[in-house]
Amino acid sequence: FDSRDGVIWYDGEFVDWKDAKVHVLTHGLHYGSSVFEGERAYGGEIFKLRAHTDRLIESARILGFKIPYSADVIDAACRETLSRMNLVDAYLRPVAWRGSEMMGVSAQNNTIHLAIAAWEWPSYFKPEERLKGIRLDIAEYHRPDPKTAPSKSKAAGLYMICTISKHAAEAKGYADAMMYDYRGYVAEATGANIFFVRDGEIHTPTPDCFLNGITRQTVIELARRRGLVVNERHILPDELATFSECFICGTAAEVTPVSEIGPYRFQPATITETLMNDYMAEVQPKPAAAAAE
Ligand code: PMP
Repeated sequence: FDSRDGVIWYDGEFVDWKDAKVHVLTHGLHYGSSVFEGERAYGGEIFKLRAHTDRLIESARILGFKIPYSADVIDAACRETLSRMNLVDAYLRPVAWRGSEMMGVSAQNNTIHLAIAAWEWPSYFKPEERLKGIRLDIAEYHRPDPKTAPSKSKAAGLYMICTISKHAAEAKGYADAMMYDYRGYVAEATGANIFFVRDGEIHTPTPDCFLNGITRQTVIELARRRGLVVNERHILPDELATFSECFICGTAAEVTPVSEIGPYRFQPATITETLMNDYMAEVQPKPAAAAAE
């Protein structure tokens, strides 16, 4: 991934993709002092860019560091990265981290870096898998107690258990894994939030120890716009047997139907399909006239 053509925005300037490097003694690499975003551009516009930028700044604040650029500068840098890469439909990855001046747990004076890369990332899951629903394993790791980890931060360190869980799932032939939380409630997938349908109503876990995803919030809004009931609540594992539909959602995953979670079976149907289509319509850039209506 590091040997592509193109440019990456790096601390205020564009550098060649191949030269966008960090030192091996970077604090972010040793101690996980790194936060990131995942954004998608559709038709040349980054969907909910300011919400992502605000979350990036907030993620860093939670980890105790301040990104040395304003939200306006970061937004402009994201847009310029997209245009310099000649991309219209793409994925963007801003990442911020503590640098390499000091080594040790404490690194108060290390430079805070920010980089932004963009590339084409058509579908997180294979299209054919997506339509019939993907299969999820049940992860061994649980989402940690907010007292144990900074769960509101999109911090690189929190992805350690996600990568372990997703690799374990893939080794068993699953596309991804569903994680329970520290209390044993249903939480989310390794990089996306989760939704269920029963008797025409939607149920989704309360995001009190994992990200309240920007896609999740969008999907809830779209569902309510359709007059659908959305219940945000704690969901027990036993309930998985009672749901008819299931889908996951996130910036990369968009709305992806789920057909299996371990021993439980789901049938992607009307509500999942409706929200999949509504989401794809919602992310398209709005013509100025329509937006003003
Ligand atoms: N949970 C996790 C663990 C994620 O990595 C993501 C993707 N950022 C989400 C949920 C969904 O967040 P969003 O919709 O803001 O992309």
